[in-house]
Parts: sequence; structure tokens; C-alpha cells
Amino acid sequence: MTIHRPSAAALRLLRLAAIATISLGCAHARYYDTISVSHRAMSRDAMATTRTKLEERLKSEVFWLENAEGVRTRTTLQGMAPEGVQALWLATTAGDPDAVEADRFVHTGAGHVPVTVRREEAAWILRIGVAQATGPRGSGANLVERWGIGPLEADGATWTDEAREAVDVSLALLSVAERRVLAGIPIVRKHAPAGETGDGAKAVGARYSGRNCDARIFVFDAAFRGEHTNFAGEPEAPLHDNVRALVHEYGHAIHKRPARIGICLIDEELPRIQERKRSLNARVSAFNRTPSGSRSRAESDAIAQVRDTLERDAASFEQRQRSAVEAVGADGPVLAAYAEVIGNDSPPTRYAQVSLGESFAESFSLFRADPAALQRLLPKVYEFFASGAHLRAMGAALEGN
Ligand SMILES: [Zn+2]
Repeated sequence: MTIHRPSAAALRLLRLAAIATISLGCAHARYYDTISVSHRAMSRDAMATTRTKLEERLKSEVFWLENAEGVRTRTTLQGMAPEGVQALWLATTAGDPDAVEADRFVHTGAGHVPVTVRREEAAWILRIGVAQATGPRGSGANLVERWGIGPLEADGATWTDEAREAVDVSLALLSVAERRVLAGIPIVRKHAPAGETGDGAKAVGARYSGRNCDARIFVFDAAFRGEHTNFAGEPEAPLHDNVRALVHEYGHAIHKRPARIGICLIDEELPRIQERKRSLNARVSAFNRTPSGSRSRAESDAIAQVRDTLERDAASFEQRQRSAVEAVGADGPVLAAYAEVIGNDSPPTRYAQVSLGESFAESFSLFRADPAALQRLLPKVYEFFASGAHLRAMGAALEGN
């Protein structure tokens, strides 16, 4: 997933996707905002002007401050803390117009302050954390052994403590069964995807790659940029954006697992079938080299039987091979179950419009990194994950193999 503003090409794609969705009669878009807006601390004067501008812009709206326990107190733009005012300004001027929730760090003279801004009917709800608040740090030691995932690999870039700690925080959010999906899938540190410098506006933080048995999760430099713009979770313990980026890729690993395992089984079986063919051919050649007078009838019968069995097995193998290859291109059982639950509801983020797979990965990333946000946005989807339906859909498909 992209961490920064989508590229022009991606925006065009999103617009096309949006048009397609409208023609299908989709519910009005309600997004968790992923647009990151770089900004500076406001001067006193700029703050006073911003309060006045917002009062004009939002004159029929009411404002609530919410504390960590969810208790709300009515407030006004004049009475609001500066970071609240700036968070509202970012949400209403630079944020996604269809967003109903955003988690942003607001830059103030005192540092960056995590603020959640939510939209409800004609009301704005703000939850303001403390300056420089940080989420769990994570431990970079023995990730593979502790979590049973990976291995960790490096392709040009090195695994720093920071990168390992981010992976630890993201893995700790998963259930045991979800982590098991990642066993044997290398997590690869790389500077940037092929053809990207990694510092452009479309820099990607992480990516699941795998159209066959050999899946990989790449973790790119863009996931570790120092600039604090967005977070996930609660402002009291804000999670770095890269945690959601990583969990998003784990989501792809989950919905793609049934198809991947199908291909792995085929890959495993292919050499056995080939070996049987070679051995049969060798036996037939040996038989043919025997002078016709001394050929054994028993051997000829035995060869015929082996050949018949092998032909049957090879036909069945080719059938399974075709289905396995088709399954890789199809949505698969996990996305089918998810599609039924999300129905015509708005996908969780604008990026999630791209495909059902991206919608699933975005929903899953929120479920693990910001469950309260998913529960507010898509309560049925929240319930889908909370009840383990995604794992049941994956498991049922595995039993069928
Ligand atoms: Zn994705």
C-alpha cells in the first residue's frame, strides 16, 4: 500500500473505480482517511485566522472533545486547543472529502500531537493525545523464532533495529492462526520496488508478492521515513503508519493462502510424476532391448499396468494443476466470504476501491491496527474478522485440497 499521496496514475485509477462503483449503486463513500498532509506548526496569527475561517466554513456544525474513556464534552472552535483546530483544518482542507475519520500527527511548537478527527452527521469529534506520544516500541530480537514466521531476508538493504521492531509490533497484533499463515513466507528488506527510487510521491512501504508457491513480503525504505504524518489506533498510543502497511500485506497473505498452498502442493507433486515417467520409459527401453525371443510376458503385463496407473495419475495431476493455476487468478474463498459481508457498503479507504483484494487487506489492517475505527466504519466486517470467519474460509478451502 502507498503511504504517501497516490500518484496521478493511481488517482486516475481510483476515479475510474469510483465511477464503476457509483454505477453499481454503492452506498455513499465513508472512508478512513489515509492521505498524509505535510504541514508546519501554525503561528499565533495564523491560528487566530484559522479559527475564524473554520467558524465560517463549519457554522452549522457542533464540536465534541472525547477523552480516552470515550466521554464527550461539547466545545467550540474558540475554546479548542490549537492542535484540535489545526487537525480540523487539515481534515477540511487537505483531507479526503469523503473521510469520516482521520488519525494525524499535528505539528506544533511542542512537537507532534496525535489527533483523531471523526465526522458524524453535523458533528465533529476530536480526540487529542499528548505531544510526542508513541506507541509500543517492539523488540527486534529473534523475530523468526518467537513468532514462527519468515525467514527474514535482505535484498540490498539491511535490517535495522527500527525495521525489526516495526515488524515485531505488527506481528504482535495478529492472532496465532494469522501468524501461522506467514510461516515460510520470507520477509525481505529491500530499498525500493524495481523501477522506483523509493523517494517519490508514490513510494510504497511494503508489498506482498507471489503468484506461485514462492510468496514474499517486501519491506521498503519508504516504510521507515522519519516524518510523522499519520498514525493508526488510538491517540493515547499511536501506532506508526508502517504497522498498518505491514498488516495490510499480511492480509494479502491470508486471502491468497488457499491458492498459494494449492500451487505448493502441485510443485511438490510434479517431480514425483516426472520421476515415475522417467522410470517407466527406462523400463520400456530395457524391455525393447531384450531379444524378442527372451521377452517376459510377466514384465510386459507389469509395464502395461504401471503405464495405465501412471496415465490415470498424470491426467488427474494435470486436472489439479489447471485448477490450481486458475485459483491463483481468481478471488478465492476468503475474498468470496468477505464480499458477502461487505456487500454494497463503502470500502474502508479510498485505496480499497481498487479491488476486492485491496479492500480486504485495508479492512484487515484496520481490524488489527485500529479495531475501533473498523467497528465504526464497517461493523459487519469487524464482526467477520472478530469471529474468525476469514480463517474459517481459508481453512475450509485447505481441507478441500
Ligand atoms: Zn495491497
